[in-house]
Amino acid sequence: MIYLDNAATTRMAPQVREAMLPCLSERFGNPSSLYSLGTKSRETVDEARKAIGQILGADGEEIYFTGSGTEADNWALKSAALDQKERGRHIITSKIEHHAVLHTCRYLEEQGYEVTYLDVDEWGIVKLSQLERAIRRDTVLISVMAANNEIGTIQPLGKIGQIAGKHGILFHTDAVQAFGQIPLPVKKLGISLLSASAHKIYGPKGVGFLYIKKGVGLSSFIHGGAQEKGRRAGTENTAGIAGFGRAAELAGEEMKERGERERKLRDYLIRRVLGEIPYSRLNGHPLQRLPGNSNFSFRFVEGEALLILLDMEGICVSTGSACTSGSSQASHVLLALGLSDETAHGSLRVTLGRETTGAEIDRTVEAIKRNVAKLRSKSPAYADFLARQRPRGSSRGIRF
Ligand SMILES: *Cc1c(COP(=O)(O)O)cnc(C)c1O
Repeated sequence: MIYLDNAATTRMAPQVREAMLPCLSERFGNPSSLYSLGTKSRETVDEARKAIGQILGADGEEIYFTGSGTEADNWALKSAALDQKERGRHIITSKIEHHAVLHTCRYLEEQGYEVTYLDVDEWGIVKLSQLERAIRRDTVLISVMAANNEIGTIQPLGKIGQIAGKHGILFHTDAVQAFGQIPLPVKKLGISLLSASAHKIYGPKGVGFLYIKKGVGLSSFIHGGAQEKGRRAGTENTAGIAGFGRAAELAGEEMKERGERERKLRDYLIRRVLGEIPYSRLNGHPLQRLPGNSNFSFRFVEGEALLILLDMEGICVSTGSACTSGSSQASHVLLALGLSDETAHGSLRVTLGRETTGAEIDRTVEAIKRNVAKLRSKSPAYADFLARQRPRGSSRGIRF
């Protein structure tokens, strides 16, 4: 099997599993219990908090564990909105956010909030001038993702943070894709709230965190016990948290090396695909993108059909995002870039990871080439297109 869907989830690193195992057996104490079995668990949780804080340039105390990246996004948006409802009810976000943010915004709209959805340019970068213009006296939150899950485009976080700071508006970023992949010095970037998730960085599923800058009085979202300083109730997922801490540590240690390796392999993949497959394009920014992300469109090809053929060869990739596949709706991200419905439907996301090899990329390129040609050979639209390309009176086919 060749796994090239690391933006959907990642295979747990062996070191992460090692860090989790004690919590799944002898270290089973409740972190809230006062005897030493409990305090051991409390220490485990706090060490993970510290490790995560460290790679953000934040204090461990500013990290609050949640049950997922989705929960962290929901918390940030709903509580920021509710807490400030007397001050204003306007939120600014972008058109290319993950559904965890977009659907939460839609919910808030139903509750009487107003949301401005910023456009992006052809590369997927938000327009800062439009952001400035969108700010009103009643704007209480700006939420723009750090890096996009489909096209990998990295947003100018520092500039957005500056704008938010200048107007005294909270700045939340969904960093589920970016955390552990690129440096995110939250203080320097002016970020007040940041969401992340363990399973996207070789950690376990079902654990995330929200960074809440000291001084930001974000109210509780899950009510109950006094866990996470009373801000996120529920007995801690100690094994998951231990795994997240270890995964973050590893990401911090390996970030530069991992990034360089993946970027090199990714650029090789992009060069080959664009060079060897006619009528193909790269979606997203050529440079401002996550090291492991590539996203292509192939004209006259259904992304889903291509995905299935690749799966039959043991290659895991994705089309649109995991959430949009299953429905036949074209990806909202690709449409926001200005792609036609047809081009957006013909997209394929190939996301590399720490275990990806050059040989796997070669096999994948060959498989994509072969299967794109196969699907096009059955496409009446493609045959029609070729016929129209052929110069009148010439029997020669077109050369690519
Ligand atoms: C995966 C993802 C999420 C959701 O995180 P979960 O932990 O899977 O709930 C949110 N935002 C982005 C950008 C993601 O890639």
